[in-house]
Amino acid sequence: MPEYEPIVGMECHAELLTDSKMFCGCRNAFGGEPNTRCCPVCMGMPGALPVMNRKAVEHVIRTALALNCTINPHAKFDRKNYFYPDLPKGYQISQYDVPIGVGGWLDIEVNGFAKRIHIRRVHLEEDTGKLFHSPAGVRESFVDLNRSGVPLMEIVTEFPPDIRSADEAREYLVKLRAILTYIEVCDGKMEEGSLRCEPNVSVRFRGTDAFGTKTEIKNLNSFRSVQRGVEFECARQAELLEHGERVLQETRGWSEAKQATFSQRSKEEEQEYRYFPDPDLVPLHISEEWIDGVRAELPELPDARRARFETEYGLSPYDAALLTDTRDLSSYFEEAVKACGDAKFVSNWMMGDLTRLLNGAGKAIEQSPVKPAYLATMINRIVDGTISGKIAKSLLEEMFATGEQPDAIIETRGWKTIRDSGAIMSIVERVISENPTIVAEIREQGFTQKKGFLVGQVMKATQGKADPREVNRLIDEKIK
Ligand code: ADP
Ligand code: MG
Ligand code: ZN
Repeated sequence: MPEYEPIVGMECHAELLTDSKMFCGCRNAFGGEPNTRCCPVCMGMPGALPVMNRKAVEHVIRTALALNCTINPHAKFDRKNYFYPDLPKGYQISQYDVPIGVGGWLDIEVNGFAKRIHIRRVHLEEDTGKLFHSPAGVRESFVDLNRSGVPLMEIVTEFPPDIRSADEAREYLVKLRAILTYIEVCDGKMEEGSLRCEPNVSVRFRGTDAFGTKTEIKNLNSFRSVQRGVEFECARQAELLEHGERVLQETRGWSEAKQATFSQRSKEEEQEYRYFPDPDLVPLHISEEWIDGVRAELPELPDARRARFETEYGLSPYDAALLTDTRDLSSYFEEAVKACGDAKFVSNWMMGDLTRLLNGAGKAIEQSPVKPAYLATMINRIVDGTISGKIAKSLLEEMFATGEQPDAIIETRGWKTIRDSGAIMSIVERVISENPTIVAEIREQGFTQKKGFLVGQVMKATQGKADPREVNRLIDEKIK
């Protein structure tokens, strides 16, 4: 319903890449035998005392700087109290009124239009454990505390919200994920839950100023579901308002199977959490020197890299955007270009055949069996005429399947281009004598597309290895 305007605020949680948990020495890694990576501190035993993880604090400072935030020189930790079986202490250590970073922004682009999305805060907290519920009918649930106490960063967009469509919500998340992975504070794996996002959605009649009641969507674990979830929720709310009904303030889950949101629970009020400063933790003093040190080490961020790819390698804005989507993708590209010198070739092969193979195998670029140096060598072999572009396609597939290097495969498979005119000529002669009707037609009508058939026959007879320019030349010569 175009007369209703979507309004979206994003709350994103990122598990931080640290060796140990936020307030204890337990290992921080995805998975593991349940309840093997926990101790009295992260199991919430009475009397156990938390100790801050410096690396986690630094990751949040780095993120806040990358998002153009101001750093609070004196941040503090607070207890957010609520009762749930995945939270053994009965409270989550979080940051309430003085988060580490405030007042930042990131830029997105949707349909060619640039837009700045303002960020209200970046704060540090701890993750909860995980619950596993038995199938319906079995009154049994399980708790795994391996995730309990894992450092978690929350990033919340500003109010009033800048995001005004599902596309923008998705783009915001794409850009945020790129930044977090570039600065190496989070692995960005939405499917493993290390990057989670809860859009807050409301709609209002276009032209009016007041914001409508919002709902918060949970359990979205891909870009696609974020987009779909926001679209669905806007449509649902517009429908309600259109029929004179009210939107209830609530938390809604996302059903991947039904592609629909459903009511989970009514939204708790802030006061129900009884926030208060955590008396077990000292206030966090962040010195100017510390901030400057982190700032000095910030790597090149996605927008800067994208702009550089356009100027340095002459890539189109579209290609540059795709190739800087993740840090790994952009490093792969640069490594391959350094080794073969042809940016356009590398970009085409990466975005075409290599992406197709990776998608088919469900692999990310960093897991590619075809190393950047191999792709570069393959391109060099096309350029120096050792193999044809067509053979290169098979070569890439073979490298992908075996992880072997290209020269070895070309050698064992006998994939070198045949440029020996004598060898090609004998095949040309055979093909011509086998196709007298076509040859006669070509002689009468001149060189029509019929010649393509003959070229094809010769290529087929050589398994695509004959140098096509030589084949064309010899066919012309023979027919004339
Ligand atoms: P809560 O306490 O319910 O989580 P917050 O005030 O922290 O809500 O806001 C969460 C996010 O929702 C922020 O990004 C904020 O800008 C956004 N937001 C607030 N009100 C609305 C609204 N009416 N419609 C859409 N988003 C909203
Ligand atoms: Mg919220
Ligand atoms: Zn622990």
